[in-house]
Amino acid sequence: MERTWCKSAPAAEVLVKGGRVVDPEAGVDAVQDILISKGKVADSGKGLKPGKGTTVVDAGGMLVLPGFVDLHTHLRTPGREDEEDIASGSAAAAAGGYVAVFGMANTDPVVDTATVLRGLAETARADAVIPVGFFAAVTRGLAGEQLTEMGELGAAGAVAFSDDGRPLATAALIRRALQYVKVSGRFVAVHAQDDSLFKGGQMHEGPVSARLGLTGIPSLCESLDVSRTLDIAEYEDAAVHVCHVSTAASLAAIERAKSAGVKVTAEVTPHHLTLNDEAIAALDPNLKMNPPLRAESDRKALVAALKSGLVDCVATDHAPHASEEKDVPFEEAPFGTIGLDTAFAVLYEELVKVKAIDLATLVTRMSTAPARLAGLRPPSLAKGAVADLCVIDTKAPWTVTSETLQSRSSNSAWLGRRFETRVRLTVAAGRVAWQDLA
Ligand SMILES: [Zn+2]
Ligand SMILES: [Zn+2]
Repeated sequence: MERTWCKSAPAAEVLVKGGRVVDPEAGVDAVQDILISKGKVADSGKGLKPGKGTTVVDAGGMLVLPGFVDLHTHLRTPGREDEEDIASGSAAAAAGGYVAVFGMANTDPVVDTATVLRGLAETARADAVIPVGFFAAVTRGLAGEQLTEMGELGAAGAVAFSDDGRPLATAALIRRALQYVKVSGRFVAVHAQDDSLFKGGQMHEGPVSARLGLTGIPSLCESLDVSRTLDIAEYEDAAVHVCHVSTAASLAAIERAKSAGVKVTAEVTPHHLTLNDEAIAALDPNLKMNPPLRAESDRKALVAALKSGLVDCVATDHAPHASEEKDVPFEEAPFGTIGLDTAFAVLYEELVKVKAIDLATLVTRMSTAPARLAGLRPPSLAKGAVADLCVIDTKAPWTVTSETLQSRSSNSAWLGRRFETRVRLTVAAGRVAWQDLA
């Protein structure tokens, strides 16, 4: 059954020459050519020759990787197409090396009926440059009361269920959601947050919030809800996915649950892996997100958890906002940063280059693991596989600006930042989705 949709395009005919091919699933890390014909990996090895009409990409000194999959994107469609739509969001993803992304359900209207979901699938079939799929809401209107028709939504292609943006407020609601999701064969993705501890919060609660005089959001606000949710998942033997883990205390709860055999998976964002609450001192509204940037000790724990696999995957929580909403004082700004365009550049430069994590592990967490969670065949560079790959130049300087971003919004935590890591080519589902060839 289909879980992603995209517009049709000619099958790729591309020869990627002389790149460093890193495919952890196949155990490959070698300089090779990859020949894509009829949208599939036709051959790999040395000295491959292009066929007639084949585009040749000189990838000398570049990385050739299985394309990335994002389990947590806000595409703002339907309802806020001025901030992002499926065309611009999927273009931002393609420019970031992604070959599939999944949109969250907190749109207007909410993705809480099969009719809304089918409408989105139609739009994706018309506009998406890479395969795009969708979460459906756990509760109608994200109101936290009545459950959605999960069976019907699952049959219409919902990848999983989430009220992301809002927590599931009561233990009884979490329990009922997990009981029903089991029947649908999917998982519930939770935005863990204890609202009574969140109230009015602006940033992570700690010495920096005290110094700045901003209302803090304690680590406990997240970890308490993570612990409770995992206890219920254990009791119900149901699958749960923890969105955007941000604290060491949440990681400890996930570790306990995993060792007890609970079916829990977790994701972490590029911003929580590379920034901490000290950055808030600049009062840049683009650094205001929920969960907030945490303490350096939390950030270090997240990197270690990504490395060990305690955290299964990277997810962007790409959250576009209109500039008139974000260009306001820090206290008044909405939460969220975009992330699709820059995720790999950020993580490669901040974690791989400094050897905090190796490239193969990062590829696994950005590609294989999220693909499996979404029920997709993991992107592979093996012969015969559908071409889902990206070619990345690591010596190509560019600056993050509203012009260089493909997203319709430019509320990036890295706005103005110079990177040397640029995606030159993305082939998704056998079609060229992005090219920026020198
Ligand atoms: Zn969230
Ligand atoms: Zn989100």
